[in-house]
Amino acid sequence: MYWASTKAVCNSFDHSISALDHEDLYLYKSPDKEHTQEHYYMEERIIGRYTGEEDGPLLIVFGGMHGNEPAGIKALELMFKMLEVEPITNPRFQFRGRLLGLRGNLRALAAGERFIHKDLNRQWTPENVARIKHAKPEELDSEDLEMKEVLEVIEAEIADQQPQKMVILDLHTTTAYGGIFSIPTTDPESVRIAIELHAPVIKGMLNGIHGTSLHFFNSQNFAPETVAVCFESGQHQEHLSTNRAIAAITNCMRTIGCIDAEHVENQHDSLLIEYSKGLPQIAELVEAHSILPRDDFEMMPNYKNFQKVKKGELLARNRFGDIHASADGLILMPLYQKQGDDGFFLIKTIIEF
Ligand SMILES: [Zn+2]
Repeated sequence: MYWASTKAVCNSFDHSISALDHEDLYLYKSPDKEHTQEHYYMEERIIGRYTGEEDGPLLIVFGGMHGNEPAGIKALELMFKMLEVEPITNPRFQFRGRLLGLRGNLRALAAGERFIHKDLNRQWTPENVARIKHAKPEELDSEDLEMKEVLEVIEAEIADQQPQKMVILDLHTTTAYGGIFSIPTTDPESVRIAIELHAPVIKGMLNGIHGTSLHFFNSQNFAPETVAVCFESGQHQEHLSTNRAIAAITNCMRTIGCIDAEHVENQHDSLLIEYSKGLPQIAELVEAHSILPRDDFEMMPNYKNFQKVKKGELLARNRFGDIHASADGLILMPLYQKQGDDGFFLIKTIIEF
């Protein structure tokens, strides 16, 4: 993937996709009876699909699993434009397997909110998925329907391509500034992909939160060998969050063999490495501070990702009183938005960059 084509596409592509048009999604009425609302959602779900001439993995990249995080979607829209022009600017370019870009939470994206009823990225438990698969549509709330539709699209894709290996890259952004990072599962292949993204890798996060896409997208739940990684590309509204997400998708495609290293310009690496300077290469979760809406949680102002904190430091308040750091460490994902199940995370450096 040549950076020149990234720039050319970025410059020429001024279509705003910061949020889907509310009317498009909710007031859509097709004169054609075949195009039901459900069918429309299916089409909106898919950002793009690029299939190489050679066999290879199915790489599924999610943007907007949270409806207030448009950077991943924008990155994917640009990536599909880049893949269209790449063979023209670089005739030796080859792609193995398939890239599928999916919008995560369509209804929340339309509303510009993190979620409608509940956090979609905390619902991926085996029990919940089983319930949703067997329930009638009228028994399902907004995020239940999102999960059901996402799973249907993925199962259809697996049936169509029949890949031996499926890789899920879940793109997110944070409310706080200061730092990008990737979150792997405990699968060594997930850790390898996360490290090759060239951003800080945070281990142990899956012990602190439950029901994320990372918990569900594994070989136990899908026919192909399946591995998942999450990448946080910066603050929700930063323009560079989109560029960093593009770099992460590119690096992921190289690591899993969709494209050859010789076709990846080093600007993709340097963009991420540059932004990771001074941050840990590998860090580990120390504490996850979960919250409930009735806690009235309020983070102290101006904390950034990877900011150093001392044991005992006042980090936040809720209706029960002050909340102090339980240990020396670095703060991650301090919550500065009203929706969310986690107030902050505390991590410690394992390996410096
Ligand atoms: Zn998110």
